[in-house]
Amino acid sequence: MKNPQNIPEEAENKAAWLQVLRTVQTGSAEEVLRLKCATCGSSLQIVCTPGKRTSLAIRCAACSSAIALDGESEAPPWVESLGATISTRPGA
Ligand SMILES: [Zn+2]
Repeated sequence: MKNPQNIPEEAENKAAWLQVLRTVQTGSAEEVLRLKCATCGSSLQIVCTPGKRTSLAIRCAACSSAIALDGESEAPPWVESLGATISTRPGA
């Protein structure tokens, strides 16, 4: 994995955020839509910016936790069906 930025310092959340990142990078559309904020459990906004180096930004609207990932070579698989900007629906 590349170096994620801005992962919250709290160790208990770090593992959960890494799991969120992994799902965003490699998960199915269904899995990504079920993601929730690892800090507060709210819905997440995920923005994929494709390009030579795809970047991913993940942000919680409720508590402002945010992580970003740069330098992915390809857009994740869910972008094709969901679009580049999504809001997750945990519990839906
Ligand atoms: Zn949150």
